[in-house]
Amino acid sequence: MLIFLAYATIFIIFDDYDRKRFHPFNMAEDWHLVTFSIAAMTVLGLILLRFARQMDRRISREQAEQQALMRRELTQNIAHELKTPVASILGYTDTLLDNPQIGPEQRQHFLVRTNFQARRLTALLTDLSTLNRMDFATDMILVERVNVDNIVADIIAESEFEIENRNQTYKNYLPEDIIIEGNKQLIYTIFRNLTDNALHYAGDGASVVITARNEGDQWRFTFADNGVGISEEHLPRLFERFYRVDKGRSRAMGGTGLGLAIVKNSVNFHGGQISASRPPNGGVQFQFTLKIKHNRASEANQTR
Ligand code: ADP
Repeated sequence: MLIFLAYATIFIIFDDYDRKRFHPFNMAEDWHLVTFSIAAMTVLGLILLRFARQMDRRISREQAEQQALMRRELTQNIAHELKTPVASILGYTDTLLDNPQIGPEQRQHFLVRTNFQARRLTALLTDLSTLNRMDFATDMILVERVNVDNIVADIIAESEFEIENRNQTYKNYLPEDIIIEGNKQLIYTIFRNLTDNALHYAGDGASVVITARNEGDQWRFTFADNGVGISEEHLPRLFERFYRVDKGRSRAMGGTGLGLAIVKNSVNFHGGQISASRPPNGGVQFQFTLKIKHNRASEANQTR
């Protein structure tokens, strides 16, 4: 069809070319040129429309397939994460029930392990419910004026015992006047998770520095430690759900593998972006932004 149109166009133009050198455009004589142009444009338009529709359908199909794959992977991950603690709790409690003669020391050991696994389950369910809320119910999340410096100061105070135990230092250089229109719980979650990660993974003796600078309609935060760091190949996947660098260590610390995914979604909820990098002096640096004014319209697309 396109070849035919091209051929017809060339034919009419060249056929008329000689004549037009002597006669200017005349509607009565050149009506076929106008009709042909309209017909050609219509056909071309229809072809392009059809092509665009096909592309649209293909993109939606690919997106649906990708979403289905992601959902399947997520469900498999959740099932896998639930399996271990549930199996452990059953194992320990079965042993205790089947062996009433078991000594007090061993009984205590089994109870401590059962308690640890039950806490892991609770942490996992809490994290999943937080993510679910951000995925599907952002309009139910309360937005108010939040003082970020107060939240960070509270988290450092809450973690004093662990910080001392690990011989770490935390330097909070946040200005006192950082007020964000956002959700208090989610902003707490951002700094709580980053602090817990620094406590659990950066290593004994590490120091953490928290800073922020104003960039007009947003604040840019850095949360950096000088601990063991994360090698380059892990950085791009760090914010994926259930992605862990050191699986054994994360599980032993009671980690769910969802901490940084929650941090990313919470940052996105506040109209911001987050990235992780390896500073030259070692450790890991998280840099993220939070918008000062909250915009519900833009957050819905971002939290996925
Ligand atoms: P987890 O529940 O395993 O802590 P996260 O999503 O919070 O899950 O973190 C993902 C992984 O990133 C962790 O398993 C850990 O190996 C690594 N990580 C996070 N923060 C740090 C840090 N400050 N230093 C070194 N490794 C870190």
